[in-house]
Amino acid sequence: MTQRSRKTTDHKGTHCSFCGTPAEEAPLMFNGADGSSICSSCVEHGYELLVEHGIVAGVANGTRAKGGKTTSKFKPLTKEDLVRPDRIKSFLDDYVIGQDAAKRYMSVAVYNHYKRLLAKGKTEDVELDKSNIVLVGPTGTGKTLMARTIARLLHVPFSIVDATALTQAGYVGEDVESILSRLLQAADYDVEAAERGIIFIDEIDKIARKGDNPSITRDVSGEGVQQALLKILEGTVVNVPPQGGRKHPDQKYIQVDTSNILFICGGAFDGIEKKIAMRLNTNAIGYGTQARKRIDEDNIMSYIQPQDLRSFGLIPELIGRLPVLTYMEPLERAALRSILTEPKNSIIRQYETLMALDDIKLTFDDDVLDYIVDKAIEFKLGARGLRSICEAIMMDVMFDMPEGDAKEFRVTLDYAKSKIDKSA
Ligand code: ADP
Repeated sequence: MTQRSRKTTDHKGTHCSFCGTPAEEAPLMFNGADGSSICSSCVEHGYELLVEHGIVAGVANGTRAKGGKTTSKFKPLTKEDLVRPDRIKSFLDDYVIGQDAAKRYMSVAVYNHYKRLLAKGKTEDVELDKSNIVLVGPTGTGKTLMARTIARLLHVPFSIVDATALTQAGYVGEDVESILSRLLQAADYDVEAAERGIIFIDEIDKIARKGDNPSITRDVSGEGVQQALLKILEGTVVNVPPQGGRKHPDQKYIQVDTSNILFICGGAFDGIEKKIAMRLNTNAIGYGTQARKRIDEDNIMSYIQPQDLRSFGLIPELIGRLPVLTYMEPLERAALRSILTEPKNSIIRQYETLMALDDIKLTFDDDVLDYIVDKAIEFKLGARGLRSICEAIMMDVMFDMPEGDAKEFRVTLDYAKSKIDKSA
């Protein structure tokens, strides 16, 4: 088009030169200088192709539907979406067993984060900082589950990345920007939605630098990655390759502003209790035995402080960008037992539902549930073990039952034991 486009209601009789639609039937028609025309549907289709081929940066706010409405499943955030901390916590209670301290911290952090987002531009003098979160706790205690549940409550895009897969730009492995490619994918390329999404960075402890002192040689996999994460966590505009990676040099980048993305980092930080205990003991010296007694030795993790992450090998700049620090408790027997049956989508409910879809009523004897918990404790995999043990017990039932005529199946202790012994 060489001429400024305009609507052609005054050009009756013209047709779209591409699809032939008459001007009267097209929502909008644009004219070229040479007398040719193009209807808005063809423009829209052309635009989609450009985005698809990475030729234009995706300013796409969701894919566009006929009539110009966006079809993004993520609606813009409004004041009504702001969920109060107590409501966030009770939503978490429906899905995550125990972890009260972490739930309270998370609820407040998430509430403040989205409040800050809604208040943008309204608080003149005070700039509200981001409340990125670190969750410290053993594997299988619900760190990922917690982050995923929050995203579900808020209806925002959510993605998980593994810190160990990341490398400093230019090295073999995934660039730090790939974190955002995943979020964009989860947001169906709705950039605005991605910009207020949640990213869970797992295994953040694995990029700790080795040793307490800054390294003399460059530490590509640890400190380098921490450095690369700083800007993204704080808030910057990142050029994100649409399909992830940089395999297509001709692809245009999509610009994503990370200032309103909430980052939740999780890590087991194996051995951090020793560092906490050491700090507590050192602090206690000089205050006499009284101070030492007040420390609850069974719950050392509850004393975790940012400086403990530092002695573990996270750089101070990174810790500074993760201001909310909380811990996950190891799951005791009672918690594991509850996880089997209580959450809204508990493992047992999932199996019951799966079988119900084939019109089969599935029941578990109580002692089977205790047995599953015993095995999970033995395997030391936290709640992760529960699932794999259940799978081993249920595999043959799920294979055979849909074939037969039986409409009921009761899992007894003997049956469960026979399956576990078989798989061991
Ligand atoms: P982490 O991220 O701490 O390693 P996950 O959140 O991935 O652990 O947990 C693995 C699985 O174990 C989850 O999908 C969930 O089914 C179960 N699970 C773990 N912790 C809990 C918990 N506190 N409450 C309910 N289920 C849990």
